[in-house]
Amino acid sequence: MDGTALAAKVRAEVKEEVAALGDLGLATVLVGDDPASQIYIRLKHKAADEVGIRAIDRRLPADTSEKEVLELVAELNEDDGVDGILVQTPLPEQIEEATVMRTIDPMKDVDGLHPFSAGQLFFGRQTLVPATPAGVMRLLEEYRIPVTSARAVVIGRSLIVGRPLAMLLLHENATVTICHSRTDDLLRHTVEADIVVAAVGVPSLVTADMVKPGATVIDVGITRTEHGLVGDVHRDVADVAGHLTPVPGGVGPMTIAALLGNTVRAARFRQGLLAFPRV
Ligand code: NAP
Repeated sequence: MDGTALAAKVRAEVKEEVAALGDLGLATVLVGDDPASQIYIRLKHKAADEVGIRAIDRRLPADTSEKEVLELVAELNEDDGVDGILVQTPLPEQIEEATVMRTIDPMKDVDGLHPFSAGQLFFGRQTLVPATPAGVMRLLEEYRIPVTSARAVVIGRSLIVGRPLAMLLLHENATVTICHSRTDDLLRHTVEADIVVAAVGVPSLVTADMVKPGATVIDVGITRTEHGLVGDVHRDVADVAGHLTPVPGGVGPMTIAALLGNTVRAARFRQGLLAFPRV
């Protein structure tokens, strides 16, 4: 499954939508100097620029207090030129992520990590959904992978990938199993699955013997190694799977494209073009 090509298509769609909506601003907040976070921020800004979204780059030193981060978020909440706010994680340890996410205006919550956004997703009334799960669902849709009645196994239960993705698959009528680090005998679950999603960060966790022939395998994992980026899925899975996302070039580009899509959606909410549920 070619995430790079599909992401280009999504970005082209977003570009047209941005042109119709007018000036759109996406603010990113980066606290500290984590090298991977710096790369992600740069990629997000580049993608925003390409579709005509104004990227607003706010950076704070690693020793910033939680209060200062909350003040910056409050300022961005009030700023009419900001449609979407993304606080890059991980945050330094003196700052509690949940507190920061709770401070973001839910209408600008393009990472979908505010409890309101998560609650709406739980209810099946999505406002803004985390970008990676949204990108995965778009891949499944584009490749016409049947989801209704499919057995889907999601490995990983993070708030930003595994859990929201499991919820989206459930809303699309899959029968969903969520696996995690305490799951006993992972193979027993994956081998029965029509769709396997690995969102863990352990290279080669999913091996060919764990996959049912013809199954769709989505590799969300990204681990930096001396040979470059690798996913959670062993390369031999390509011989068994019906569909497989590569790393890089699969879910990664779709995540960034979905973030841009979320920024457009946030702008629609803000402009009253889409109804936003009362908070
Ligand atoms: P995370 O918060 O570290 O969550 C990892 C999950 O994997 C946890 O639920 C953990 O279980 C589970 N896990 C750990 N070891 C396991 C094992 N041996 N067997 C089964 N489950 C295991 O990570 P995340 O933020 O969800 O990200 C997951 C991976 O996706 C990372 O490699 C990250 O870099 C990548 N990622 C990629 C994109 C993209 O755009 N492609 C976006 C986001 C993340 P417990 O809950 O029990 O600890």
